[in-house]
Amino acid sequence: PHGEPENSFKYEDLQVKLAAPYQLQPKPDARDLGFGKYFTDHMLKVNYHAPLGGWQKPEITPFENLSIHPAAKALHYAIQLFEGMKAYRGVDDKIRLFRPDLNMKRMNLAAHRSGLPIFDGEELINCMKRLIQIDQEWVPHSEASTLYIRPTLIGTEATFGVMAPESALLFVVMSPVSAYFKTSSDGAVSIFADPKVVRAFPGGVGNRKVGSNYGPTIEATTRAAQLGHHQVLWLFGPDHQLTEVGAMNIFMVYINEHGDKQLCTPPLNGLILPGVTRRSILELASQWEEFTVKEEIITMDQVITLNKQGRLLEMFGAGTAAVISPISRIGFLENNINIPTMQQSQPVFQRIKDTLLAIQYGHIEHPFTVVI
Ligand code: PMP
Repeated sequence: PHGEPENSFKYEDLQVKLAAPYQLQPKPDARDLGFGKYFTDHMLKVNYHAPLGGWQKPEITPFENLSIHPAAKALHYAIQLFEGMKAYRGVDDKIRLFRPDLNMKRMNLAAHRSGLPIFDGEELINCMKRLIQIDQEWVPHSEASTLYIRPTLIGTEATFGVMAPESALLFVVMSPVSAYFKTSSDGAVSIFADPKVVRAFPGGVGNRKVGSNYGPTIEATTRAAQLGHHQVLWLFGPDHQLTEVGAMNIFMVYINEHGDKQLCTPPLNGLILPGVTRRSILELASQWEEFTVKEEIITMDQVITLNKQGRLLEMFGAGTAAVISPISRIGFLENNINIPTMQQSQPVFQRIKDTLLAIQYGHIEHPFTVVI
């Protein structure tokens, strides 16, 4: 079921209805973008109705509200999934996507888990390219902001049974965004780890981008903010394994038992979202051959011990929204642990961030990018 769908919508069937000039929104001020506050003039929609043979023709329409039955399964059982990707305006003025095929694979895995229809990712990428072309003036002319793309798939069948929906809606909306996270003045974040709350568990859906993973994080995030932290560090298990930070994958740089520098991140053991940024960092850093790169379990005990021994160098979060967020402090069991990420002379996080941005904004031509 994870392979090619027998039935997918097709880019060649795409129907386009452009907004009338009076419907076009003014572009917001670059300093006021926030994250998902303004939306572009158009959106993409693809309906799915099993009784009508499955996927219908994709359509681009002016941005508009959805009309949805109050019994739609998405509203009750969170039969729903979403993605987060970006379109970057490069130094050459070309617009690029970053590894969109990986977002499409992740979408189809989540769809399968929730009984939502799968589709051919290539076809959706082509439809999204067209949408971005139409709204291309919404892709910011700046490397401090980007156009965030939010593909979403919801179960719309209006019956209360907890079962695979017979109808669904795939839609894509886009929003110009600036930096995602609040940080301290040095650009680093302070994170709060509460061993009593878990984000994901074995056999669950921590490795899928479904809305039901995010709603229940709000209370912990609010508490972290009240205690003066920016993000939640999600722990798992009696040994307090570090899993993710906020909506980012977590990385650590330390001196290993052989005296070598090691970059590590937890393995994809079902608790971790398979981040596109995570995978790209692992692939790029392995090619550099300058330090050891490893997927391994990280525990709080290990963090505390390495830090005491002066062997912990850096910790950072990685994801599409913020690219790289250096971590300077962890609140854990009444203590604040200072992490020396911002005190390194040539930090690994900075090199990774510079490399990713250089690829995304076309300073370096790289097979990770797709020019629109
Ligand atoms: N973990 C979680 C829980 C996330 O929501 C995200 C954002 N998609 C990530 C990690 C980072 O993934 P990506 O690099 O694909 O944005």
